[in-house]
Amino acid sequence: MTAIDDLVTELSRLPTIGRKSALRLTYHLLRQPEDQSQRLAAALVALVEKIRPCTECGNLTEASPCALCADPRRDKSVICVVEEASDIPAIERTGEFRGQYHVLGGRLAPLDGVGPEDLSVGALVRRVMAGGVTEVIVATNPKLEGEVTALYLQEQLREAGVTVSRLARGLPMGGDLEYADGVTIVQALSARRAM
Ligand SMILES: [Zn+2]
Repeated sequence: MTAIDDLVTELSRLPTIGRKSALRLTYHLLRQPEDQSQRLAAALVALVEKIRPCTECGNLTEASPCALCADPRRDKSVICVVEEASDIPAIERTGEFRGQYHVLGGRLAPLDGVGPEDLSVGALVRRVMAGGVTEVIVATNPKLEGEVTALYLQEQLREAGVTVSRLARGLPMGGDLEYADGVTIVQALSARRAM
């Protein structure tokens, strides 16, 4: 294996990058100024070495607790539950939500062998039970598995005596929160309904 083969192999593991694109990217990197490729390599190393899940919410961050958990101006009484840390920037961009987050780390998918123990459900219940939380907004993706996950969380939080709400329709069914536009997310947030 040459260095070229190695990079082509690694790049083609990335989503949406086939072998042909991986080859094109590799030769592009070989043509561009060396320092530019060095910066790319350094950024990748820094990403792997510095970024960790926040111990509070699971957001991906360099400092734990993350900036969102550490911000005293944010409302501690509302927790918005998302499937992945990558959903947080989509909601943050709207500027409409001022509460806390909780990253589940996926969604229930029994057919793929993903059960509650694979998600941070226990940590969510503990956070809520610790007190001070009045509402949990379940912002799992509007897909069947996201709906199933939302119902499961509602069940788990029943004892806690908090309002559990779900983002309103309007988000395209089968879509990804991560890619939804800001206006749609704002509407879905403001029209959220208790479960
Ligand atoms: Zn956090």
